[in-house]
Amino acid sequence: MGFFDKLFKGDKKKEKCDCGCEEHDKKKDVHAAKAAPKAAVPAKQEQVQANPLDKFPLLPGAPPGGKIKLAVYWAAGCGGCDVSLLDTAERILTVADMADIVMWPIAADGKEKDIVAMKDKEITVSIINGAVRNTENEHMVKLLRQKSLLVVSYGTCACFGGSPALANLVPGGKDEILDYVYKQCPSMKAFQDTQKSPVLPQTSVKTPDGEITLPMMYDVVKSLDQVIDIDYSIPGCPPTIESIVQLLAAVAEFAYNGVALPPKGTMIGVTDKTLCEECPRKKEMRRITKIVEPHEIDVDPELCLMDQGILCLGAATVGGCGAKCTRAAQPCRGCYGPTKVVSEMGASVFTAIASLFPVLDKDPICGEDDIIDIMSSVKDPLGYFYAYSMSKSLINRAVVEKKGGQ
Ligand code: SF4
Ligand code: SF4
Ligand code: SF4
Repeated sequence: MGFFDKLFKGDKKKEKCDCGCEEHDKKKDVHAAKAAPKAAVPAKQEQVQANPLDKFPLLPGAPPGGKIKLAVYWAAGCGGCDVSLLDTAERILTVADMADIVMWPIAADGKEKDIVAMKDKEITVSIINGAVRNTENEHMVKLLRQKSLLVVSYGTCACFGGSPALANLVPGGKDEILDYVYKQCPSMKAFQDTQKSPVLPQTSVKTPDGEITLPMMYDVVKSLDQVIDIDYSIPGCPPTIESIVQLLAAVAEFAYNGVALPPKGTMIGVTDKTLCEECPRKKEMRRITKIVEPHEIDVDPELCLMDQGILCLGAATVGGCGAKCTRAAQPCRGCYGPTKVVSEMGASVFTAIASLFPVLDKDPICGEDDIIDIMSSVKDPLGYFYAYSMSKSLINRAVVEKKGGQ
């Protein structure tokens, strides 16, 4: 029995007390069970997983037909997707053996004018992360689409809008956001109070050396496929190393061996099941009478989080990540996006939760008012249920009811 087995389960034989009596031994077991800390992942469910990087060896110099061309672009995102490409460790260096990196704003040179000067479809693959939220994003993704044979929508912001698309919930759109950021938030208000008139970003300023422009924000943040045609998508916030390896290995097979790429429309790194089906936690479909956050309770390491009153989006989320969050006692927030059969992720989760309220005739232990009370304890329901998928929801922005019912 290994060290951790002993720690979490106890070693009955070796822990037998000096006098060896059964009664004493049992007491020790009871004590061990009470004292053992709860593991975030049950020991019986731990698996030794192969290193995904083993499937993507260092590349052997330039492909026989010459280097392919690769572009990486970030639109509206946090930069995490760009950094995730470096999860390939030293292999990222040999990607440059396979491909000329013609653009990668975070890591390499490559200007917009260089891309404009290229022939259509001259870039073999463009990997684009981030959502589309301003004129520059839209211009660049359309340009890269025109110049690329293949476009990969990389990461949750690109695939579903991600967290930038939560801006769609602001009723006044970009004007309200800019007003808050530049005039109302405490630090900027203190600055603006020292000015004769508010200092606000302009989209165009004439200077002696010419015109300087800034991109214009849009009211609605869009996913990449709402703006350009895409060939593949890889969800994840950011995508897992397994998905990245799958993508790079497919591109390497294409570049070195002429192996056909996956069919257009393929979503890389996902299963055809829900996250619940790869989650190791035991689902008992217990009724919800209280909603809690993980830090408010001693989370049972084996039981489904929903059964413990923690809102988890696993039932509406497509599988593929290996249930990374729920294994670490955190609920799934749906970064992999919905399954194929779910068209409206937030509503689907609302429905799943509603089915767990104890309102059936057989056990009506809580009425309508109680349910309103329970749901009121979710501080930001829209932000919670649409944390990653706002751009793709049926109503993808705040709707303001005007006077006269319009
Ligand atoms: S998907 Fe996540 S990691 Fe990638 S850019 Fe968006 S917020 Fe950042
Ligand atoms: S609801 Fe969440 S915790 Fe429960 S089985 Fe599904 S993914 Fe796991
Ligand atoms: S468990 Fe959910 S939120 Fe966490 S990585 Fe997987 S899909 Fe994303």
